[in-house]
Amino acid sequence: MFDIANIRSQFPILSETVYGKPLVYLDNGATTQKPQCVLDVVNDIYMHKNANIHRGVHHLSNVCTDLFEQARKTVARHINALSDAEIIFTRGTTEAINLLAFSFGETYCRPDDEIVITTMEHHANIVPWQMLCERKKMKLRVAKISDKGELDTDHLYSLLNERTRLVCVAHVSNVMGTVNPVKQIIGKAHAMGIPVLVDAAQSMPHKNIDVQDLDCDFMAFSGHKMYAPNGSGALYGKAKWLNEMVPYHGGGEMIEKVTFEKTTYNQLPFKFEAGTPDYISAIGLGRAIEFMEEIGMDNIERHEHELVKYAIERLGAIKDLRFIGEAADHSSAVSFLVGNIHPYDTGMILDKMGVAVRTGHHCAQPLMDRMGITGTVRASFAIYNTKEEIDKLVEAVERVRMMMM
Ligand code: PMP
Repeated sequence: MFDIANIRSQFPILSETVYGKPLVYLDNGATTQKPQCVLDVVNDIYMHKNANIHRGVHHLSNVCTDLFEQARKTVARHINALSDAEIIFTRGTTEAINLLAFSFGETYCRPDDEIVITTMEHHANIVPWQMLCERKKMKLRVAKISDKGELDTDHLYSLLNERTRLVCVAHVSNVMGTVNPVKQIIGKAHAMGIPVLVDAAQSMPHKNIDVQDLDCDFMAFSGHKMYAPNGSGALYGKAKWLNEMVPYHGGGEMIEKVTFEKTTYNQLPFKFEAGTPDYISAIGLGRAIEFMEEIGMDNIERHEHELVKYAIERLGAIKDLRFIGEAADHSSAVSFLVGNIHPYDTGMILDKMGVAVRTGHHCAQPLMDRMGITGTVRASFAIYNTKEEIDKLVEAVERVRMMMM
């Protein structure tokens, strides 16, 4: 049974007040709040178990190493990876994509090669590829989107050719909530022998993900957007690529043998985990995944889908409000503008009423340019949000309209 009151009671921060009003937290696309079970795991390690992993022979080091490797198993099982070794822990999506851009780029890319991205990417899935293109004298090709914020897949397919090394696409747009047909894109790209990275930062918290079913070559995601501690996340990669790719950072656990003449590298996944990883956050990520699985990914998806539908219906009835992004397949973020009111003004007034939303370009400036705007107001939902909170958002947006127009 899906019990929203019980779920909410597990998030201590949800009983906070802001300016004397109950907190309405609708900024989950930026980061989610953490349930007690995740906070407890982190606290328990710092209080009773903490020691650096892998290098110790002593008891606590072994305890933490085991917990860290169990968390890797949990991630691998959750996304149905073929093996634990295909999960590289990172600090989040940004680090995962930078790792890939460097290691994939150094291993497989040559001058005049091309990387294909889309207009709706987060800067984290643009800038690392631009940096690679500058470094290697390659070209970045960008697939168009429609006025409704849907990907023009025909245009994307027309960009694929024998020089394309990788397609990098968001599963869900962090601004518009557009769900991209990644399985279909992967199928088309594979038919031409081209691998695909899926940026799952905004899909993993909301959907059942099966990397073998999607058949993606790489996937990046952030733990802090799915109820886990900051500093957690991962890059999934098929072992056939990861085994061939050169390492990213040097040092720590990524070595097999170091001499001044030559260093050889450790096996997967350690080859890509130089230095002390944020093992406590990774362990917290494992617990956060269990928390989501206990609720059930289908229940999460169903509840959030209802929230989005309700938000679109109710916000859509507000005079002078227009949505940025009206894709048919819509996940848990809704962006809008009211008349010519600046999004910052809307956000600031909503804040005074206890409603936390995000305003601005959402790290997607090229998308803002495409839509001919400088920013949006974005409400993004999580498992603990309710229709009553959306009512409060709608009431607050109405107030903003009355005050400013
Ligand atoms: N990609 C997308 C689609 C995102 O929404 C975000 C976070 N807003 C990122 C990448 C970057 O994630 P992080 O800051 O956790 O590395």
